[in-house]
Amino acid sequence: MKPSPPVLLTHATQLLSLRGQTAPRRRDQMLDLGIISDGAVLLHSGVVVAVGSTDEVARHTLAGNAEEIDCRGKVILPGFVDSHTHPVFTAPRLVDFEKRIAGASYEEIAAAGGGIRSSLAGVREATTAQLAQHVTRALNEMAQQGTTTVEAKSGYGLTLESELKSLQALKLAAEGWDGTLVSTLLGAHVVPPEYRSDPDAYVSLICEQMIPAAASPKLAEYVDVFCEKGAFTVEQSIKILRAAVEHGLKTRVHLCQLTPAELAPILQFNPDSLDHMDYVADGDLPALAKSHTVVTLLPAVNYYLGLDQFPPARKLIDSGVAVALATDYNPGSSPTPSMPFVLSAACTHMKMAPAEAITAATINGASALNLQHRKGSLEPGKDADVAVFEVTDYRELAYWVGVNRCRQVFLNGYRSESGLTPGLPNRL
Ligand SMILES: [Zn+2]
Repeated sequence: MKPSPPVLLTHATQLLSLRGQTAPRRRDQMLDLGIISDGAVLLHSGVVVAVGSTDEVARHTLAGNAEEIDCRGKVILPGFVDSHTHPVFTAPRLVDFEKRIAGASYEEIAAAGGGIRSSLAGVREATTAQLAQHVTRALNEMAQQGTTTVEAKSGYGLTLESELKSLQALKLAAEGWDGTLVSTLLGAHVVPPEYRSDPDAYVSLICEQMIPAAASPKLAEYVDVFCEKGAFTVEQSIKILRAAVEHGLKTRVHLCQLTPAELAPILQFNPDSLDHMDYVADGDLPALAKSHTVVTLLPAVNYYLGLDQFPPARKLIDSGVAVALATDYNPGSSPTPSMPFVLSAACTHMKMAPAEAITAATINGASALNLQHRKGSLEPGKDADVAVFEVTDYRELAYWVGVNRCRQVFLNGYRSESGLTPGLPNRL
């Protein structure tokens, strides 16, 4: 694909600008999508040049030379920011899938040798190029459904060599993709089998070898830890986060997915995001609401695992906590690249309003990656990340499920046609 010449998207039934000064958005701010009727957006050189009504934007000096795309009957919005994914794996986990259907729990599957550990062999044996191919397919599937920025973690190698190989694969895939990829070292996903009798030795390997190697040359922007019973304790997590900060890397944490944990020791590191948070304690809400940390909810996991409980989105939002939504794309608990599906799950199962879900999947997702100045809203100067959906009301983004209504995306100004043109048979 070539860089787009000036492009003018016009006559959108609704353009969701998400414009406004503060990010992340909290409470009622999440309901304000900055909707513009008969909306238009002008893109040039990879950035948004102008946004407004079609009449307003058409008067811009660059509009005369722009290629116009008529978006009548469509909704334009900022590309989704999927701020939590695990795309570096080689195979689906079908045995786990069947075991779970037969009634086994997450912990039982892990104890039987399934779960995260069963993805290790594939990643350890694969070449960097093979892993990059898997990542590229995932990124393209995400973009087809309107996602333009993706946070992507390593975490299925769990040796120094295979974690670095996973980060190299992310780099390679990112270079061939028009969207924006933010890379995270998740060497602390679980303790690998070779270290089962001495988990602290594995924590030392992460702190003393993996993190320094990921920090220079900079292969990762973030370090993540799965702080959970059966993974890493709070004390071990703190050691890992401290090493991350010492090496100039930012932090984010998988927390409170299966059991509650005290947040204070983790919040001292000012993580950009705490993710899952199914079991967040009421007493921790005021501190979270005051912090800049975004809580990233992953309802596709609860859906896929067949759980009755979902993360307490209402309680978090109503307490003033900044909430984002992401897929948690991974082979064990969320094999979906679809942010529209996540919007559906968020509204149906967590009682988020459609507008809240869209805010959580755009500007608040950008905030969870510290990219709110470049991503997550359509405002002059921001990156030209745009999704065009064939719907006429923003609520339809969360309403339709199991169908892809995304028709076109712009990733940093590069155009990608998305989905099938209605009326054309599959063979085309
Ligand atoms: Zn995850």
